[in-house]
Amino acid sequence: MNYQEMLESAYKEVEVSEECGGRFEVMRVKGHHEGVRTVISNFLQVATCLRRSPTHLLKFLGKELGIQGEIKGERLVLSRKLSSKNINEKIAKYAKTYVICGKCGKPDTELDEEGGKLFVRCLACGNKNEVHKI
Ligand SMILES: [Zn+2]
Repeated sequence: MNYQEMLESAYKEVEVSEECGGRFEVMRVKGHHEGVRTVISNFLQVATCLRRSPTHLLKFLGKELGIQGEIKGERLVLSRKLSSKNINEKIAKYAKTYVICGKCGKPDTELDEEGGKLFVRCLACGNKNEVHKI
């Protein structure tokens, strides 16, 4: 397996879709470049699909990609040119860390803050897993 294949197989562990369907899937971002910026036109929908706040998702992306972003209505404007693929990979990583239960693999989870710590609490199996606060 070469490096590219390795990246792709890691990426495939989380399903990515064009739409937010009934089954849990990570929605693919619709991105384009405006000058030196990247605009994600469906950012709010992607966050809604993950059942997470857009600001939390933006914090994660900002840290992972070393960028700054601003939410403008439905859209997210990023301070640099990035490929949609790159952003989709980070969103898949976010889903794996902050949405999908590490024990049963279901996405029926909530973020819970307790005593200054952050947990992913699973509504399906009751598992509670501490995650890194962004
Ligand atoms: Zn679970």
